[in-house]
Amino acid sequence: MKRALINIDYTVDFVGDHGALTCGKPGQHIQSEIVKITSDFIQNNDFVVFAIDAHEENDSFHPEVKLFPPHNIIGSEGRLLYGGLHTLYLDYQGRENVFWIDKTRYSAFAGTDLELKLRERGISEIHLVGVCTDICILHTAVDAYNKGFKIVVHKRAVASFNQLGHEWALQHFAQTLGAEVI
Ligand code: ZN
Repeated sequence: MKRALINIDYTVDFVGDHGALTCGKPGQHIQSEIVKITSDFIQNNDFVVFAIDAHEENDSFHPEVKLFPPHNIIGSEGRLLYGGLHTLYLDYQGRENVFWIDKTRYSAFAGTDLELKLRERGISEIHLVGVCTDICILHTAVDAYNKGFKIVVHKRAVASFNQLGHEWALQHFAQTLGAEVI
């Protein structure tokens, strides 16, 4: 079965000690696992998508403005991938199987061409890694479920600032979305 890895929001703002909206330590602890999985998928010639939250500075119409402080502003340091994942991306960007998507909402499918890219390649199974388990990973998984994709969540490569939300989401993936949680 053709598969894709959707690598979500593992940026300085979401993971770094001084990130604008950071998961902090739980996010930093998954670094080696997320780098290893991403590297394996790239080497294996699977489709690897970096789906990364993108905000314009001073965009007062975006719904997140009322919910969160400014984060992942286009062109800012905070929007760079975090740590080893940044290095890995620099090594492999431009390869045909490595693709970058500017994410517009929590779900990587909302307002992007992700679904078209997956369907063009005949991909029916998507693997999820990144942050936060109970926000952007969750919303992406719900959309994937509704669109009929098989979902695999790598539990050692997802994290949240909210441990309760993290645990709840892992259960929800398996019990309600029929995901494989590995
Ligand atoms: Zn955002």
